[in-house]
Amino acid sequence: MKTEAAKTEAGTAENPPPKPPEEVRLGGLGVSGGFAIGQVYDTSEEVVEIAHRAIAAEEVEAERARLQDAVLLSRRQVAKLRARLGALPEEAEEELGPLLDAYAQMLGNSRLLRGARKRIGEEMLAAETAVQEEAEAIAAAIMAVKGDDKAGLARRAAEVREIARRLVRNLTATPFRSLRNVPQGAILVAETLTPADAATLEPGRVAAVCTEEGGADGHTAILLRALGIPAVMGCHGLTGAAARGDQAVVDGTAGSITLFPSAETIAAARDGLAAQARERTRLNKLRRLPAQTTDGELVELQANLEIPAELPVLEQAGAQGIGLLRTEFLFMNRQELPDEETQVEAYRAIIETMGEHPVTIRVLDWGGEKDMEALGEAVPLAPGPNPALGLRGIRLLLKRTELLETQFAAILRVAHAGDVRILLPMVTVPAEVAQARDIYEKVARRLRRRGETLPDKLPPLGAMIETPGAALAADAIALEADFFAIGTNDLAMYTLAVDRSETDVAHLYDPLHPAVLRLMQFAIEAALRLRMPVSVCGEMAGNPAFVPLLLGLGLRSLSINASAIPRVKQALRGLDIDDCARLARRVMEQSDPAQIHELVNGFGAPG
Ligand code: PEP
Ligand code: MG
Repeated sequence: MKTEAAKTEAGTAENPPPKPPEEVRLGGLGVSGGFAIGQVYDTSEEVVEIAHRAIAAEEVEAERARLQDAVLLSRRQVAKLRARLGALPEEAEEELGPLLDAYAQMLGNSRLLRGARKRIGEEMLAAETAVQEEAEAIAAAIMAVKGDDKAGLARRAAEVREIARRLVRNLTATPFRSLRNVPQGAILVAETLTPADAATLEPGRVAAVCTEEGGADGHTAILLRALGIPAVMGCHGLTGAAARGDQAVVDGTAGSITLFPSAETIAAARDGLAAQARERTRLNKLRRLPAQTTDGELVELQANLEIPAELPVLEQAGAQGIGLLRTEFLFMNRQELPDEETQVEAYRAIIETMGEHPVTIRVLDWGGEKDMEALGEAVPLAPGPNPALGLRGIRLLLKRTELLETQFAAILRVAHAGDVRILLPMVTVPAEVAQARDIYEKVARRLRRRGETLPDKLPPLGAMIETPGAALAADAIALEADFFAIGTNDLAMYTLAVDRSETDVAHLYDPLHPAVLRLMQFAIEAALRLRMPVSVCGEMAGNPAFVPLLLGLGLRSLSINASAIPRVKQALRGLDIDDCARLARRVMEQSDPAQIHELVNGFGAPG
């Protein structure tokens, strides 16, 4: 049901104005809290807007060469998509296969490319302008064909436009969906949103995001929470029901989007927005108060950082440093790898902003759902049948050591500017830490020989504990690593065999599952025995209800979504460590997830 935006024609006595559509409420996963009232902006028909650019005669050859490069890149991208088809359900494969074949054909000796090359030479147009104008001309000619199969013609025209969009995007090196053009205050509606797409969103611009797919601890959800954008995922039927311009109300806490909201729904959302603003003001007052329990135990509350745009939120939340700097942002939405200088500048800016506070930089965690365009092209690795179990994180870095060396070198060069630590993702065996350390020390020696200023003592090198294997081998990994950061997002995913970004299994994703908690306990105790620093940097630590359990398990350092810091601080300022330890003992005696939820949620409740 594709619904038109409500019409506002005045109507007459005989022809009363059309009745406004009934409100439609769709439920999903509330992955980022807050209300929004706005108009739907549906991305499926996104148009890449480019200026009409003319060129001089001597530029013609260079423009044709640019076009050729973009064609080759587009062919590789389409071939890659084709290679992935096997992993999709049969019907999806049947539907997408012929489409990708049509794309591949258009990237061969096609009318589109011949026409675009001609326009470059004859009309003196830049390659992207030529592609766009030729595609529009072809699409118009297709639509002008007489016949009954209007839908078939529209499909062919859409295919031409689609491949032109890909070429233009490759020519202008912009993200696939230019979400920077989303109108102010819009509610972005999409089938799915990749982390790379989400990283291009402007928080002040997009009022909310709703998608059909996605899971609460997937990377896109994490980014949206970090940016403070209310979001609902896993909304089945959304893209069919919502059309561009429809009015909607989003409740990111309850997990719903209401199309054509009634006056009561809008009034309730306005109340919600006002309450939210009051709560923010109240929580901001906590900023300067210590993160300390009632019995005086200090807890380190740091922030996870996805993209530099979040830095002001960290400052506002009073984060005591960055416990997890996900460096993937440097590699997203680009065709070439960031070189050492680019990385140096990016790290320096963040370290200097954080001043005295520690900054834990995690080296690139590529793989799984974090399929970045830059690496897609620059690291020609087949994704493999199961990317989450393949060359992800440290595994890739130890295979393509030049990536690790560049990143280590960039971090080491700015390490003297602050309190820096380095973190390795997806460690499963102690040897990975040892190998990474050899490379780390080799890079440091090389930099010193070159006369670079490095701290006398190299920054500590830690390991993420985010697989069951790493958790159960934590005692051995602890002998190689300088600190642990427990990544409960992946730990829950790998322990429970539940994809963290998959809607259909989201109900099974549970960091309070006893299996996950036992693994965490094992890793925490391995670290504490050696008096080695250990923190949790998964999303669960940002839930105030889980904080008593985490403290009870012995943790005193949490790294969380910056926007969650005030609420977590408020919760822990009312806790007593002995009570937390008692809760943890009771929880760890349980083997039934439902009982654990009851204990955790009931903690502190009267009676
Ligand atoms: C985790 O897995 O818990 C984690 C913090 O890493 P990421 O979410 O970046 O995979
Ligand atoms: Mg992880």
